[in-house]
This record gives sequence, structure tokens and C-alpha cells, in this order.
Amino acid sequence: MPESLYGPGEASGIWVFLEHEDGEIVPVSRELLGKARELAGRSESSLTGLVMGNDVEDVAAKASRLDLDRVLTVPHPRLEPFTAEANSFAAAAAIRAQRPDVLLMGATPYGRDLAGRLAVMLQTGLTADCTDLDLEPDSGLLLGEVSGFGGDILAMIKCERRRPQMATVRPGVFAETGHRRAAPAPIDTFAVDVPAQAVPVRVLARRKHHGVDISRAGRLVIAGRGVQGEMSLVESLARVLDAEVGATRVAVDEGWIGRDRQIGQTGIVVRPGLAIVCGASGATQFTVGIDKAGLVVALNQDPEAPIFEQADLCVVEDLFPVVRALLARFESEGAMPS
Ligand SMILES: Cc1cc2nc3c(=O)[nH]c(=O)nc-3n(C[C@H](O)[C@H](O)[C@H](O)COP(=O)(O)OP(=O)(O)OC[C@H]3O[C@@H](n4cnc5c(N)ncnc54)[C@H](O)[C@@H]3O)c2cc1C
Repeated sequence: MPESLYGPGEASGIWVFLEHEDGEIVPVSRELLGKARELAGRSESSLTGLVMGNDVEDVAAKASRLDLDRVLTVPHPRLEPFTAEANSFAAAAAIRAQRPDVLLMGATPYGRDLAGRLAVMLQTGLTADCTDLDLEPDSGLLLGEVSGFGGDILAMIKCERRRPQMATVRPGVFAETGHRRAAPAPIDTFAVDVPAQAVPVRVLARRKHHGVDISRAGRLVIAGRGVQGEMSLVESLARVLDAEVGATRVAVDEGWIGRDRQIGQTGIVVRPGLAIVCGASGATQFTVGIDKAGLVVALNQDPEAPIFEQADLCVVEDLFPVVRALLARFESEGAMPS
């Protein structure tokens, strides 16, 4: 195995990749900052937000108000529209020069693509799709929690000898703290040349997907296999509750609903105040996605269903008459329950 480009003794500081879209820092990057600040406090490290792109002054100014010690911009015309090739080339140059100890990124399509390439270029490890982050008590090493072997185990992964220690974290795992700085953080710039040959792909057009983002829903009604494709019932309940509809993978695989609503290990991590789970057994691969929900109400006719271990309110019944009764009650009251 090739040598690490730099080792623990030469590394310092925590960096968070601040992904931005249409001039706004994306939610998962802001969510990461709260956790990164906690880790920086515990390890007495500085916290840097990395802003890549072209014409990044406005984004950098917004970033400088977030809970960061410093913003580092890496501007170049070839960094937008985003390609992993150009961005990894430029980010790797900045990382080699400034040697952060930790680099955190959102597990978005861009973040995942960039992180994988960077890990190879920097000859370091990457813990992908983390569901939590921590520091090892004695060593201070970054620990990334990931679910493995089909979701039946949770593993803590660390990177002992190579730097930076890299992790991607899924949207919704951490809550945004909303902490702001009174005075803006200093903004540094790393000048990089991105030669044309470093960017073998050209983006001809970008098509934006206008789906829902259920990771931010305050209330969710979730359909499992037990709903048997009767999505209109679940959708009606969601409507009266002013909720979004989510689903287990089975409901998605059956084609009852789009994949952007799948909750769980290979779906989305959600943190609604209320989740009504209809006809889902409660497989670990699903429940990791609702771990952070507030009140969980489960409807399942099987009293032994594992979902009841997670639920705060357990309704052991055929879900259809229960949902119809709830609907009739809410509709007759003519008001959304608080
Ligand atoms: C690597 C891997 C990743 C995965 N990722 C995900 C993921 O991200 N998200 C996910 O959801 N799954 C995921 N899965 C699949 C997961 O293991 C389960 O198979 C899935 O969550 C089960 O979905 P379900 O609960 O809807 O269906 P089932 O397990 O079939 O449960 C249906 C439940 O409905 C109940 N029921 C049936 N009829 C009624 C009724 N009339 N009234 C009340 N209750 C009723 C039954 O008692 C049963 O408990 C993954 C699996 C693997 C191996």
C-alpha cells in the first residue's frame, strides 16, 4: 500500500465541505457544522468551512456567518458546473497544502462522488454514509458509525495512520443548530489552477429533480407492505395531518411510491416530530431511518412485530379500519390535530 501523503503528526484542524446550490449552502452541510463544532471543541481543533466553485464570494460571505473559525475558498471557473474530477483535483491540492486532520462531507450525490475520489487521491481512508460521529476517548481519533451486514450491526470505523480522516454523513442525521457568529469568520483563499486536462467530462445540461425532501418533514405518515398499495388512504391521512408520505423499501419496490420517499439505511434518515407507521414490520434497515423521530405511532396487526419496540404508541389492529376511523374523526372535526 502506498504511503499516506501526510500523517497524524503533520495534520491539524477539522474541515467541513460546504456544498452549495444556487448560492445557498445545502442543509446537510449546515447540519454537519453543529457536530463538527462539538468535535472541534473536544479536540481543541479549529473548524474550517471549505467552499469550492466559481464566483464564490456570496456563498463565502454567508458561510462566514456560520459557526466556523475560518472559511477557505477554492475558486476556479472550471469548478462549476460541478464535476467530481475538477473539484477533487482542486480540493486535493488545498488539502495537500494545508493538511487538515479531519474532512467531513454530506453524503449527497456530489459529496459521495467527491469523497471517494479524494480518498483515493490522498491515499487515505473514508468512512462513508455515517449515521453518527464521535471521537475515540484516548486517541482522539474520529469514529464514524456505519450500519453493516444488511443493517444488523453498527460498526465504529476509524482511520489510524492516514490523513485526513474522512467521513460522509447522510442528510438528516444531525440537526442544524442554527448557531451564527456575531462577527464574520475570516475568509482565506487557496489559489489553484485546474488545467483543462484535469476535467475530462463536460456538463452539457443539468436537469433539476423537483422531488420532495422528506428529511425535513415535521410529520410523516409511512406506508409499509401492510398498506397493500392503497396509497390513497395513507395520502389522505397525511393530508389531514399536514404531513408528508414516507415509505419502506418494500412499498417503493412495489412501485406504490417514488424512491425519494424511501426511509432507512438505503433511503433517507428523517426526524419528524410525529411518524405514523402503517403496516411496516420494523426491520433494522428501516428503523435506522426513524431513530430520530419524535413520537412514533405504529399500526400493525402482528403483536410481535419489531416495530413495536421502537414505537411510543402501539396499535395492534388491522390498519385499514383504524386509518379510516382516524380520517373520519379528523375530517368531522374539520381541523388539523395539534
Ligand atoms: C442492504 C439492505 C438495505 C435495506 N434498506 C432498506 C431501507 O432503506 N428501507 C427499508 O424500509 N427497508 C430496507 N431494506 C429492507 C428491509 O430489510 C425490510 O425488508 C423492509 O423494511 C420491510 O418492509 P415492510 O416493513 O414494509 O414489509 P414487511 O417486513 O413485509 O412487513 C409488513 C408488515 O405489515 C403488517 N401488516 C400486513 N397487513 C396489515 C394490516 N392490514 N394491518 C396492519 N398491519 C399489517 C405485517 O404484520 C408486517 O409486520 C433493506 C434490506 C437490505 C438487505
